[in-house]
Amino acid sequence: MTNFEEMGFTPGILKAIQELGFENPMPVQEKVIPLMLGGEVDIIALAQTGTGKTAAFGLPLVQATDTEINNTQALILCPTRELCMQITGDLTDYAKYTGKLKILAVYGGASIDNQIRGLKKGVHIIVATPGRLIDLIGRGAARLSAVTTVILDEADEMLNMGFLDSINEILEEVPDGHRTLLFSATMSKEISSIARKYMDNPVEITIGTKNSSADNVSHAYYLVHAKDKYKVLKRIADFEPDIYGIVFCRTRKETQEVASKLINDGYNADALHGDLSQVQRDAVMQKFRMRNLQLLVATDVAARGLDVDDLTHVINYSLPDDTEVYTHRSGRTGRAGKTGISISLVHLRERHNLQQIERLVKKPFKAIPIPTGTEICGKQLFHWLNKLETVVTDHQEIEKFLPEIKEKLAGLDREELLKRVVSLQFDRFLGDYRNGEDIIDPVPEREGSFGRSGKRDAREEYPGNYTRLFINLGKTDGFFPEQLIELVNSNTKGRKVPIGKIDLLKTFSFFEVEPSYADELIKALNNATFDNRRVAVEIAQEKTDKPRQGDFSGKRPAKWSDRRPEKRSQGRSESKSRDYKRDSKFGKKDKKKYSR
Ligand code: AMP
Repeated sequence: MTNFEEMGFTPGILKAIQELGFENPMPVQEKVIPLMLGGEVDIIALAQTGTGKTAAFGLPLVQATDTEINNTQALILCPTRELCMQITGDLTDYAKYTGKLKILAVYGGASIDNQIRGLKKGVHIIVATPGRLIDLIGRGAARLSAVTTVILDEADEMLNMGFLDSINEILEEVPDGHRTLLFSATMSKEISSIARKYMDNPVEITIGTKNSSADNVSHAYYLVHAKDKYKVLKRIADFEPDIYGIVFCRTRKETQEVASKLINDGYNADALHGDLSQVQRDAVMQKFRMRNLQLLVATDVAARGLDVDDLTHVINYSLPDDTEVYTHRSGRTGRAGKTGISISLVHLRERHNLQQIERLVKKPFKAIPIPTGTEICGKQLFHWLNKLETVVTDHQEIEKFLPEIKEKLAGLDREELLKRVVSLQFDRFLGDYRNGEDIIDPVPEREGSFGRSGKRDAREEYPGNYTRLFINLGKTDGFFPEQLIELVNSNTKGRKVPIGKIDLLKTFSFFEVEPSYADELIKALNNATFDNRRVAVEIAQEKTDKPRQGDFSGKRPAKWSDRRPEKRSQGRSESKSRDYKRDSKFGKKDKKKYSR
């Protein structure tokens, strides 16, 4: 590996590199810097953000710029105002010991008059968003006639944002004979066409695999029912006490809703979307950068300008419509040599989209089980215990109160004291997860990489043909998915009965089973007891519009639809008829047990 000293940098640049703490060049720098310092070649570099590409083009560019000449020698185009500011800041750092290099960022959403004044003073390097630059060229403020280097940074993002025409227009303004560098996370037809039109025999460099996301990002997914998405998100956050991540949503509305719920539920979260003013967006981004927020719920567009290196998680609350957007999202974690994970919450219907993304990323996506309440409580508890072990106490202050504290707590032995401290600390978690009401994984038998699993999921095997059963147990009986599965398993002699959707209500529930098991299961369960109660199971009534057995893919059967348990005490007829039906089947003795 070559080091920075051997690359041919001037002492001023080397000093700046040292001050920035860069010890060795990153892979993209090893490849790009010698080419830039050595000759006039055009370069296409396929590299994600976070790979060190700003220094790859920035360090040689700063070295090559002649500060004695007062005109614009280089143009850097990038998609967002935030990236403009970041590149400008980085270049300013690189140029700290190399004379009076003038760099100006010009972007939309800020005063154009100030930018015109800045340009009039003379600028060596312009860092611009395409739309604003066109405006400045039109007003005669930006002159590109002496530009010898053009850098297109995050070219794919610029194209996604519809800047193709603006880029073409700008490149027409730059005199022939300039060199062009194009940085992009992915290679698309549009990128190739820009390369063909404006680049001369470009050298192509790929960091990592072409069109694949960063090597140190792993990809995982939870298969969830749509109604459980938010609950699963909470579980991810609860299971990862040190999480620092972006939750990507598809729409502004969804972004706001998810963020509001998280805030209401006491999480350190906020929303970033296009309905916020620029000032509000800046404030949210600043809070997130400073880690005053752990979770940023954002749309793709709003998160574009945000550049944070040490994200632990990217969460795809909704999968993007455009599969390439996934690469951008996941590329936000696993940066600057760190590892990260991109987790997708995938609805059963979206599995096809996930397979497409998996093909694009060329990495296996791991199905992970949703953390159970017990696992979450355990993780939180030990996280807190670690903090308890290592906390530094201010003895002087505390000692003043110690005698009084000791006296007050004298009646509690060590075990009782510990229990109480833990209860206080874990009130929320224990409350949330006390009853073991775990989110049911729609596909319990999944394993391995998506799409390559040896086993097919139950729904794939029995598509649309589940039989929906009624059971006389509900949440108030302490009956949750865990208990249902245990009840089924313990009454089917070890045979694995494929279970579909489970709808738990207060005093009764519905669940789906693969039809060929239905009769046997009904028979077995009707001889079983749960908590000393006789279990009653029967086929749920069919929908009135389509009378066909097993056609209960999600809706409550008409027969039960207006029989919400909470309304039972108010209404006479429905609850009566239900009890009557049961009486007729199980006898009067059982009636008492059903009516609570
Ligand atoms: P970029 O891809 O340009 O956004 O850079 C990602 C991060 O890597 C930034 O925080 C840089 O400061 C950092 N970085 C760039 N080059 C190096 C290097 N050679 N050694 C260590 N960190 C670097």
